[in-house]
Amino acid sequence: TARNPGEPEFTQAVSEVAEVVVPYIAAHPEKGYAEAKILERLTEPDRVFMFRVPWMDDQGVFQVNRGYRVQINNAIGPYKGGLRFHPTVNLSVLKFLAFEQIFKNSLTTLPLGAGKGGADFDPKGKSDAEVMRFCQSFMTELCKHIGFVTDVPAGDIGVGAREIGYLFGQYKRIRGHFTGVLTGKSLQYGGSLIRPEATGYGNVYFSREAIQHVDRSLEGAVCSVSGSGNVAQYTIEKLNELGAKVVTVSDSSGFVHDPEGIDKARLAFIMALKNERRGRIKEYADEFGASFHEGQKPWGIACDYAYPSATQNEIDEDDARALIENGCKGIFEGANMPCTHAAIGLFQGAELLYAPGKASNAGGVATSGLEMSQNKLGLQWTREEVDQKLTAIMRDIHQKCVEHGSTDGSVDYVKGANIAGFEKVAQAMMSQGLV
Ligand code: NDP
Repeated sequence: TARNPGEPEFTQAVSEVAEVVVPYIAAHPEKGYAEAKILERLTEPDRVFMFRVPWMDDQGVFQVNRGYRVQINNAIGPYKGGLRFHPTVNLSVLKFLAFEQIFKNSLTTLPLGAGKGGADFDPKGKSDAEVMRFCQSFMTELCKHIGFVTDVPAGDIGVGAREIGYLFGQYKRIRGHFTGVLTGKSLQYGGSLIRPEATGYGNVYFSREAIQHVDRSLEGAVCSVSGSGNVAQYTIEKLNELGAKVVTVSDSSGFVHDPEGIDKARLAFIMALKNERRGRIKEYADEFGASFHEGQKPWGIACDYAYPSATQNEIDEDDARALIENGCKGIFEGANMPCTHAAIGLFQGAELLYAPGKASNAGGVATSGLEMSQNKLGLQWTREEVDQKLTAIMRDIHQKCVEHGSTDGSVDYVKGANIAGFEKVAQAMMSQGLV
C-alpha cells in the first residue's frame, strides 16, 4: 500500500494473490523465488503509458480524456489484455486488471504475456461519429506502443466490435501494417469465430466442470447473472443450452428479475437492446412484465449458481450473505474481481464452489490467443474447431485448479488458480535471468 498510494483495487488484487503465493514460495525454498524477488517483480509493471486523448464532440466542443496502457509482464508471450472505456477507469483499476491478467493468461496454456489499458471515456450516449473520433485519437498515441509481437490489446467494458473496428482502422492507417495487432476483430478482417461468445461460454464450461466434480448438474438449475453486456449475454445463451434457467440480468441502473427465465427470444431482445439500440435494461422489464429493481443488484434473488458478469466489487459481504442464505451453491466469476475480499471469505467459509475470474473467465483471452494463431497462420478455423479448443482449454484450467488446489477431497479454486498461474510465469522469469 505504501508503494502504491491511492491504488485500492490494485492492492486488493495483489493481496489476494499474495495470501496464496507467499506461503507457497516459503514452502518451496529450493525454487529460489524468494531470493529472485519474483513476487516483487510481478507487482511492478514493465512500464505504464499515460496520455492525453483530445477529441471533438458533435457540437464542435473540445473534449479531453486520459488514456493508458499498462504493460506488466511479457515473460511467456507478448503483452495481452483488453482496453476498457468507462468513466471509472484509473491507474489503480488498470493495474489490478493487468496484474490479474498475468495469472489468467498463464493458465490458458497459450504464450500470452499480460497488459491492460483503456480510458476514462464513457461511450454511453455518444454518437458513432464521436466514438470513432475518440478511438482514432486514442490509437494515434497507443499505436506507438503496441504491435503484433509486442502488445496485442483486445476489448473489455465499453470496447466491443464497433470500437475495435475504429481502433484497428486507425492503427492500419498510421502504421501501414495489416496484422493481428488487436483481437476481438470482426470476422471480415481477421476476427475469430466464437471470440464474442468465448468469455461467457468459457465461464459456463468451467462451471460445468466444477459442478460435475461434486456430482451435480446444471440441468434444471436456477442461475443468477449480473450485467447485460458481452459476457452476460453469452453466459445466458450457454446456460440455456445446457438446460439451466437464468432469472436475472442487470446494468448500471438496476436489475431485472424474470422468474419465468430469460429464454432464447428474451435473450435476443437483450442483445438487440444492448448491442444495437444501446438502451437501458428496464426496457426488458417493460417488454416482458418482469420486475425492475432500480439501483439494486440481483444477489438477493434465490439461485443455485451465480455468474457475476458486470464489474469489480459488485458482490460485497451483504450480497454474499444473501446468496448463501438463499441456498446458492456456487459462484463463477465472469467479471474480473466481482467479489470483495470479505465476500470471498464468506463463500470459502460456507464451503460452496467459488471460482475466481482468473480461472473461470479465461476463455475470452484464450480465444483471443486462438485469434492470434489464426492471424499468424492466415487461416480461419470453423466455429466447431474454436469451440472444441475453448472447451478443452477450460477443462484444462479446471484440471490445473484441481491439481494445485485440492485438500481433503475439496478444491480451493483460489489456491489452485493462483499457484498454477504463478508457477509457469515464475519459472519463465527464473530462466530469463534478472529482467
Ligand atoms: P460490457 O461493456 O459489454 O458490459 C458490461 C456490463 O456491466 C453492462 O451491462 C454494464 O452496464 C455493467 N456495468 C459496468 N460497470 C458497472 C458498474 N459500475 N455497476 C453496475 N454495472 C456495471 O463489458 P463485458 O461484458 O465485456 O465485461 C464485463 C466484465 O467481464 C468486466 O469485469 C470485464 O473485465 C470482464 N471480462 C470481460 C472479458 C471479455 O472478453 N469481454 C474477458 C474477461 C473478463 P451499463 O451498460 O449500464 O454500463
